[in-house]
Amino acid sequence: MEGHDEISAARAVRTVIDWKAAGWEELAPHVGRIRLPGWDATTGLVVGSGAALLIDTGSSLREGARLRADVRRLLGPHARVTHIVLTHPHFDHVLGTAVFAGAGTYGAVGVETVLGRGRDALYEDAVRHGLPADEAAEATDVLVVPRHRVSGEWTLDLGDGLQVLLANLGPAHTAHDLVVLVPGNPVTVFCGDLVEESGEPQAGPDAAPGHWPAALDRLLALGGEDARYVPGHGSVVNAAFVRAQRATLVARSGVS
Ligand SMILES: [Zn+2]
Repeated sequence: MEGHDEISAARAVRTVIDWKAAGWEELAPHVGRIRLPGWDATTGLVVGSGAALLIDTGSSLREGARLRADVRRLLGPHARVTHIVLTHPHFDHVLGTAVFAGAGTYGAVGVETVLGRGRDALYEDAVRHGLPADEAAEATDVLVVPRHRVSGEWTLDLGDGLQVLLANLGPAHTAHDLVVLVPGNPVTVFCGDLVEESGEPQAGPDAAPGHWPAALDRLLALGGEDARYVPGHGSVVNAAFVRAQRATLVARSGVS
């Protein structure tokens, strides 16, 4: 089961987090994100009481190490990531995971097939997208397969009454799409690549275009009209943007 030890071992976090000083974007007092260089992939951080949840881990071990250092800058020299959610198994979202030893890891059910048997394909994909071959090899050699696999919904308790919801909404962008809803005013929803703002939504060979509009319906039902939707790539958007992207996907796939 999810580690009591992991939570109790985490150090207390600062009550006020200076996101801006570390180059992060504040989404709520306890919620931030950074747009990583290279592929503009979002990594999110949700800070609880003695717990820190990282959402996606970057495109390489080097980037993962940079995120680990960022967490210390944000939360204090002894802080560490206690939980990791991988929104989907694409290289730019998962290759930094191995630097976070001891964190509880979560992914959509089935993600183990891609991150286990499919690591050669992940390597090829990373190199094709421009990651240096040695960095791709190093990261895929030590690829972390999430220990906890989510089908449906899973509530993560980050302490002090902060509970975030993991929801498996795919297949859509991939066969294994997991989103994270953080309660608050407003609600924050980390969408992975179910939503993209900086470019057209990317549908590769592992996408399920016919199912994608329905996944966005579930996303909107989950987050509601007033939520802030954090895309996998690009600026934070609102419900109207998600609906517009749904219309684009419908027009593209012909499935409503
Ligand atoms: Zn993706």
